[in-house]
Amino acid sequence: MKPDTPIQYVKGVGPKLAERFARLGIATVGDLLCHYPRRYIDYSQPSPIAEASSGTDVVIKAEVCAKKGAVRLPGGRTMVQATAADDTGTLTLTWFNTHFMADKLLLGEEYYFEGRAKGALSRREMANPIVRTRAEVERKPFVAVYPQTEGLASGQIARCVENALAAADPLPEPLPPDYLPRFRMPDKWTAVKNIHHPSSPQALAAARRRLVFEELFTLQIGLSLLKSRGAVKSGAPMKPTGLTPFWDSLPFSPTGAQRRAAAEICADMAAKRPMNRLLQGDVGSGKTLVAAAGVYMAAKNGYQSALMAPTEILAAQHAATLQTFLEPFGLRVALLTGGMKAAQKRTTLAAIAAHEADLVVGTHAVISSGVEFAKLGFAVVDEQHRFGVRQRGLLADKSIAPHVLVMSATPIPRTLGLLMYGDLDISILDELPPGRLPVKTYAVTGKKRRDMYHFLDDQIDKGHQVYIVCPRVEESDTEAPGAADLQAVTSYLTDVAQALLPHRRIGLMHGKLKPKEKAAVMDAFKQGELDVLVSTTVIEVGVDVPNATVMVIENAERYGLSALHQLRGRVGRGGGEAYCILISDHTGEAVRDRLRFLCHTQDGFEIAKYDLETRGPGDFFGDRQHGLPTLQLADLMGDTRTLEAAQKCAHELLEEDPKLSAPEHSLLAAQVSHLFERTTFN
Ligand code: ADP
Ligand code: MG
Repeated sequence: MKPDTPIQYVKGVGPKLAERFARLGIATVGDLLCHYPRRYIDYSQPSPIAEASSGTDVVIKAEVCAKKGAVRLPGGRTMVQATAADDTGTLTLTWFNTHFMADKLLLGEEYYFEGRAKGALSRREMANPIVRTRAEVERKPFVAVYPQTEGLASGQIARCVENALAAADPLPEPLPPDYLPRFRMPDKWTAVKNIHHPSSPQALAAARRRLVFEELFTLQIGLSLLKSRGAVKSGAPMKPTGLTPFWDSLPFSPTGAQRRAAAEICADMAAKRPMNRLLQGDVGSGKTLVAAAGVYMAAKNGYQSALMAPTEILAAQHAATLQTFLEPFGLRVALLTGGMKAAQKRTTLAAIAAHEADLVVGTHAVISSGVEFAKLGFAVVDEQHRFGVRQRGLLADKSIAPHVLVMSATPIPRTLGLLMYGDLDISILDELPPGRLPVKTYAVTGKKRRDMYHFLDDQIDKGHQVYIVCPRVEESDTEAPGAADLQAVTSYLTDVAQALLPHRRIGLMHGKLKPKEKAAVMDAFKQGELDVLVSTTVIEVGVDVPNATVMVIENAERYGLSALHQLRGRVGRGGGEAYCILISDHTGEAVRDRLRFLCHTQDGFEIAKYDLETRGPGDFFGDRQHGLPTLQLADLMGDTRTLEAAQKCAHELLEEDPKLSAPEHSLLAAQVSHLFERTTFN
């Protein structure tokens, strides 16, 4: 069988199972062979009975010393028991409703038993253990456990994989042949056989290392191909500019971290290579000011700057904030958004082309093809995870090669950062402006909603303002996107918020509003003309209203912790006491744990790590837009060294064959597109 033979021709699969495999994205023999185990049961190192602690999954090697016949239990169940012993103790084995395993057992023979150990030291027991003979274990010391899906158990997958391995042609080698000796890696076919049926821990480790390398290498090539890296030589060479006048013009002094990051940016922009830097700092750490310092330096050198924000609200806010920072130096800020009137847009575009604007702030509109800069030298992308890889590439295309600064509040583990940005340099704002108190965070159920509204009323009495983030209802197929959102948020406004706070001024914000309407609502809230803002997550990132002290999040279970942390960062900016209330009626233990974790942690990095460990990288960014395909083996918190090697190789290879068009790279090229097939870059 060839790698591209449809999976239903594998012995034991057939059309029905094939359909279930399709749900896992497995269509061919090759796909099946590249569906790797999640973990293994290691029979090569059995545990002595005395050391098998109660409640853990173990493998025990012991001699059968007694067998009892089947007993019928009240309620109709049957029970078969046996006793086995090793030098350290005895173990009672019990099977319910099956005697298939027990029938295998011969008195006086040694077997391997796998299952969960229970009971006190003097009375170890195991229910429904799997039994394997010495010969079976010698042939296959590790038993693979596969990620399963509805209707496909791990054992079923294992049998199909076994049949496929027996019948398939060896998988061809996609990596350049010199990599194997260079990194002392097994070839693909050997690695694939060993990942399913490792003969030893060493063979497994080698197979895994090789396949992780391949996965990361393929991913990196794909990402590099997507990115247009632009010229290697800087298109905007700048002279170093002292920032003292800029810092001196501010109403507060910059934090040490802000000074450091700004100095790094200035040094980059004075270098020969275009800057490619990530500015990472928790919510409220003051990233905007650092960007402004960069704009200042670019302008001093006669260059324009661009800043791209994920939403119109944020773009408008940034434009206003940056204007106050830059105005003292006579710099002109232009706001460019999708919702502008045609005539107004024409005027703005003309100003940008005539270098009458020093900084252009906008949403995606900034990178649309109609925008021509007179002299773009510095481009900033705020809250990058909202933008896909492709958009950043487009921005870099705007002129020959502007300096690019990506700003993010979501701390990105080094591995993931390397993956997404390749050779990106990182500046970290690890210091908050002085006077910030931690936001008091509570997780409550809907039963407490009424009490909570009393508390909100109290806060409003004290002159503060409140955000309420509303359920984001899953869109049904029949409705236009966003329609359900709109309904959920409007009915919440009338049925809950207005009903419980009848005398307060409550505003409504959601994605369906026209840009002008959004701006008006936001302005009213900023000016204190509204007490409460009921909103969908359009306010998620970056909005700055210092007088807001409470953030309420309904259906908190729907968001990743990093997203919740971002929302929480909207309050507590005024220096006083601030609160975040997470409402969820979800009873799942994992969900409650997650919300409790957030109540006790303010550190964005810890939160991101927890998210990544418990929910995987997809959820880590709150939505799918991070644009990375799903990885099977590579561990995003680890595997850093392999990743670095893979990146170096990807770099070298693309230098030699930038489009992967050489015939010897065709297999690799196909693999790259296969990996990215299910990923949309937006
Ligand atoms: P973020 O990093 O989340 O984007 P912002 O740039 O929006 O943070 O800054 C948050 C708030 O802190 C803003 O109101 C900003 O004016 C203020 N700020 C920034 N730097 C300082 C500083 N050094 N001292 C006092 N306030 C600051
Ligand atoms: Mg911000």
